[in-house]
Amino acid sequence: MNNLVFLGAPGAGKGTLAAILKEKLHVPHISTGDLFRDNIKKHTSLGDEAEAYIHEGKLVPDEVTEAMLRDRLERQDCTEGFILDGFPRNLSQAAYLDQLLAEQSKALTAVVLVDVPEKVLLDRLTGRRVCPECQATYHVLFAPPAKEGLCDRCGARIIQREDDQEKTIRHRLEVYRENTFPLIRYYEEKGLLVKADNSEGEADDHAEELFRKLMKR
Ligand code: ADP
Ligand code: ZN
Repeated sequence: MNNLVFLGAPGAGKGTLAAILKEKLHVPHISTGDLFRDNIKKHTSLGDEAEAYIHEGKLVPDEVTEAMLRDRLERQDCTEGFILDGFPRNLSQAAYLDQLLAEQSKALTAVVLVDVPEKVLLDRLTGRRVCPECQATYHVLFAPPAKEGLCDRCGARIIQREDDQEKTIRHRLEVYRENTFPLIRYYEEKGLLVKADNSEGEADDHAEELFRKLMKR
């Protein structure tokens, strides 16, 4: 069973590694950030509630996030496993997740820490571009699309996320240090932590190494 959480600072590349691993493990990739952005785009009440927090780089309140996650994890495609990307982001969300899984007679099998030096994070985030249609990610310098400004996969015009402006990025990194960083210790003490490097080189190679580590457990 692969019930996985991906942990790491904004810009570490959790989403990139998760998207590759999901294919190898045949489990859904659940990104709370993507779920929120999808709701914002569709103007649902959840989206309206979350929008201001996200644009300021703050955490969306736990009750809102937790209810959204519960709905998603209860769906049929999660019975054989899942990759959570962006949840939990603080200790009380971690406790909520433990309880939610226990209710379903499940538990986490591993928590992947995607580790990248801090100076790399800012460079990555400021140059990041995303496809609003299929969620593919690019970087203006490190991973540009073949045709400038257009998604390789679906042809849509790629954009900069509003929360990828420098001021918001700084705030998100602070939120990470204060709220999310303590989760490393929390999961380490439970014996769940697996480290994945994603600093230099190809994401595919890092994903392959991570896959092997997970298979050995
Ligand atoms: P990144 O990891 O690059 O910061 P995400 O797409 O994971 O980007 O998240 C974007 C934003 O969505 C966060 O800054 C936050 O406002 C909101 N968000 C995502 N997950 C959570 C969560 N578990 N709890 C609260 N807010 C969240
Ligand atoms: Zn696309």
